[in-house]
Parts: sequence; structure tokens; C-alpha cells
Amino acid sequence: MQIEAFNLIVVGAGFFGATVAERAARELGLKTCVIDRRPHIAGNAYSEIDPETGVEVHRYGSHIFHTNSETVWDYLRRFTRFTDYRHRVFTAAGGRLYSMPTAAFGRIVSPDEARRLIAEETGRFAGTTPTNLEEKAIASVGKTLYDLLIRGYTQKQWETDPRTLPAEIINRLPVRFTFNDRYFSDRHEGMPADGYTAIFRRMLQHDNISVELGVDYFDVADRVRPDQLVVYTGPIDRFFDYRCGRLGWRTVDFAREVHDTADFQGTSVVNYADADIPFTRIHEFKHLHPERHYPLARTTIYREYSRAAGSADEPYYPINTDADRAIYDSYRALATRRTNVIFGGRLGSYKYLDMHQAIGAALKSVDDTVAPFFASGSGGVGTGKSPRPEAA
Ligand code: FAD
Ligand code: UDP
Repeated sequence: MQIEAFNLIVVGAGFFGATVAERAARELGLKTCVIDRRPHIAGNAYSEIDPETGVEVHRYGSHIFHTNSETVWDYLRRFTRFTDYRHRVFTAAGGRLYSMPTAAFGRIVSPDEARRLIAEETGRFAGTTPTNLEEKAIASVGKTLYDLLIRGYTQKQWETDPRTLPAEIINRLPVRFTFNDRYFSDRHEGMPADGYTAIFRRMLQHDNISVELGVDYFDVADRVRPDQLVVYTGPIDRFFDYRCGRLGWRTVDFAREVHDTADFQGTSVVNYADADIPFTRIHEFKHLHPERHYPLARTTIYREYSRAAGSADEPYYPINTDADRAIYDSYRALATRRTNVIFGGRLGSYKYLDMHQAIGAALKSVDDTVAPFFASGSGGVGTGKSPRPEAA
């Protein structure tokens, strides 16, 4: 692999890396190399056809696109059409199925009555600014619904005391007092008509872009020169060889099953809140594309299990306790001294980013950092400019 021939080296072919590469190659004319240690593009958004059922599955769990950003929405629609899919989630608890979110008391309540019941239960958290996940959840939905739908699920998902988890984790869960059961409230939502991987193929299809799969950045890092810019979207603690400590991550395992039925659970995602059920949710992918005709009376499901990420595991969710944030701050301080490396994406910025946020951050990064790096004369290869001496 001729890494020397490129202006820009993008580590990671997920949404952050692919967006930077696409913009840099197309708009800035930079010779760009995208490397990923996995054998495929698309990062965690990767989708593929299950050979036994013909159903398009998401190898790393169901991904639903949603955003309020016109910039991100307009950008992504250059590479795909979106269907009018609207995500609905159901949570199983105590043998019943509740739609998530709703003021789900399992009986008929008017919006006013639901508000009153919840207000009675928010107790000492009413009107305060929640400082952790438990306070936020109880302040939003009251103790009964917290115990029923959130406590057990959160325990399985994070295995961390909810009082030490950041409140933002469940900010994404809307609280409504109506029977609007859509999971997301964003202006734009949908599934890419031809799947996620097709988006990445189109984004990365450019003469200035070369994609190298199955390559670990740390095997080629010593060949990178200071006049080349690196956009790194792997885990930030790994980049610095864990010298400030290991950040806390959760990983997930998926158990794939094929069932001889056209429809296993009647919807794309069912969460399981009971602590004694070991998995957190079941994905049934064919429901993500109701517009498609899947002829076989067969279906693929994934059961999702959450656990702490060991050093050999894929990190998925940043845990973000106070201790993690202190470690992350130390890495940020080291990162600012690496003048030819940009850290981005979910792993590189240690943030629980959704796809639209990763894309939005990447677009901003191109304007704020990538373009100025080359405009200032730091970038060397093919630009006829000399490297900045302090870059390393
Ligand atoms: P990634 O997609 O993780 O890409 C990073 C890439 O870097 C990976 O491919 C990795 O192999 C590569 N890499 C890392 N280290 C190296 C190295 N040393 N050398 C070479 N390559 C390296 N978002 C939504 O908007 N909607 C959803 O419904 C949704 N559901 C999700 C469900 C699950 C189970 C998970 C885990 C995430 C979900 N997300 C969802 C979040 C979404 O996956 C992320 O926002 C998105 O993947 C972030 O893109 P990224 O480029 O930052 O990271
Ligand atoms: N959550 C919960 N019960 C549910 C769904 C979500 O307790 O049925 C909480 C849980 O703490 C979870 C968080 O809300 O980690 C965010 O859930 P979501 O499914 O939106 O996150 P994802 O795993 O898809 O990123």
C-alpha cells in the first residue's frame, strides 16, 4: 500500500471518515486514502444481504436514519433516496408489550391523567436539573415507568449504576402524553432505499479516493509524514497506546437466528426490559423495508447482548462516567499537540453520536480543519506546498 502518495489518510470507513473523504476528494481535490481494519466499508452502518433469507440485515444492529439538520439531510440525499419508514419501538416488560415512548401505564389514561400520575411520582426531582440517568428518567416519566421500562434495560445495557451514567443517554427517548408512538421526533427520517452500504459505495467512488480494507492504521502509521493529514476515527485511547488509561466502552454481541416464518415478531425492534432476560433487544430486519417484496417465508433475527468491552472487542458505546471524562480530557490535551491528526467520529471523540451527528461533525471538520490545513501550506503531497515543521 503506497500511503506516501496521499495528501489525506482517513482511518475508518464509517460515516465520519467517508464524509471527510468524499468532501476532501471532490471539493478540495485531495488525494485521499481510506483505510479500515474491517473487510468492508460503512463502519457500524454496514448492511448486507443475509444469504439464507435474502433479507438485508445490519451487521451491527438496526440503524435508522433521522435528523433535524437540513445540511446533513441534503448532503446525504446526494447518495441515496430515503423511504418513508418511521421507526416504532416496543418494550416487553412483565409479560406485556408497551409502545415506547408513550405514557404506557397499560390501561386507558387521558393525557391529563398521565401527566398527573407522572407528576405525583417525579417527587424530589420535579423541576430540578437532572445530573444523572436515573434522576433524568424519574423526572421525565416517574418512578413506576422507570422501574418497569428503564431500570432493567439500562442495567443490562450499561451494567453501571444509573446514578453514575450521564443523563444525556436517555435524552434521545422522547416523553409524550399522546398516542404518537414514533420513536424519533426529528423532521427527517427514513431508510436508505438501497441500504446503507450502497451509500458508502457512492460516496467513496471517486478518482481521488483509494480504499484499503483489512488494514490496521497502526501497522502503517510510522510511514505517515508530517505534511500528510490523518483523520482518525478509531478509539482515541488506542491511538495514544492507553498511556492515560483505558476509556470505558460497552460492546454488543449479536446472535443470528433464521426462522421458518414470514414474520417472527411483527415489527423491527422489540426491547426487553426485564432484568432476568439476558438480551436487550431483538431486531427483525425485514420490517425496516416494508416496501420490499421478500418472497421467502423466512426471516432473520438478531438477539442483542450487551457487555463490557475487553481489549480484543469492538468498542460501541462510550460509558462516559466522571472517571472516563477525566481520562478523555487527558487524551484531548495530547490530541491538540498532534497538528496533523484530526480525531473524529464516535470512537475518536468518545461521544455517543448518531449517524447524522457524525456526518454533521465531519462536514464541519472539513471546513474548519481539513481545508485550512492544506490552505495554510501544511499539506505537501501533490499540492506543491511545504510541510509545517512542528507537525508530527
Ligand atoms: P464507525 O461507523 O464505528 O466507523 C469507525 C471505523 O473505524 C470502523 O469501521 C473501524 O473498523 C475503523 N477503525 C477503527 N480503528 C481502526 C484502525 N486502527 N485502523 C483502521 N480502521 C480502524 N445511529 C443512528 O443514527 N441511528 C441508529 O438507529 C443507530 N443505531 C445504532 C445501533 C447500534 C447497536 C450501534 C452500536 C450504533 C448505532 N448508531 C445509530 C450509531 C452509529 O453506528 C454511529 O453514529 C456511526 O457508526 C458513527 O460513525 P463513525 O464513522 O464515527 O464510526
Ligand atoms: N432505554 C430503556 N428502555 C428502553 C429503551 C431505552 O431503558 O426500552 C434507555 C437505556 O438506558 C438506553 C437508552 O434509553 O441505553 C437509549 O436507548 P436507545 O435504544 O435509543 O439507544 P441505542 O442503543 O439504540 O443507541
